[in-house]
Amino acid sequence: MDAITNKDIKALFRQASSAQLALPDLAPVDWGILDYLGWIHPSGSTAFVVMPAAGELRGLRLRRAHNTSARPRTRMCSWCHHVYRSRGTALFSVYVAGSDGRRSIGNHICRNLDCSLRIRNLVSDPPTYLPETLHIGAKVRRLENSVLAFMSRANVLV
Ligand SMILES: [Zn+2]
Repeated sequence: MDAITNKDIKALFRQASSAQLALPDLAPVDWGILDYLGWIHPSGSTAFVVMPAAGELRGLRLRRAHNTSARPRTRMCSWCHHVYRSRGTALFSVYVAGSDGRRSIGNHICRNLDCSLRIRNLVSDPPTYLPETLHIGAKVRRLENSVLAFMSRANVLV
């Protein structure tokens, strides 16, 4: 994705205070290997995702809950399809207003929002349990489509 600034991020999340946003340090970011920018608030329970779509930036503010089941289980990231043998994903969710009232929708996603690094094999801890032979271009498109689909369900695109 193209580089964005903290000013862009603030404009995207106008309702959030600086303390709520906990803007990340963008200086070390390698934009060329990112499909979306994601960061976790120091509290650990809030996360932000920014992705360009159709020439505009889209933002998601999510709640993050760790998988707390007693027994670790194999889980796949809904966005990048990295498969973890045990704990590696977290449940990221957002409240949406619908005809049936307020409800929560969520995805199990890489807990540190590092999907872009995982599809490029830039992090190997832990390695995926089910390696794929899919070309990187196809992985990128799938990842972008998954994020867009989630944003669409969360009404961010309208
Ligand atoms: Zn992922």
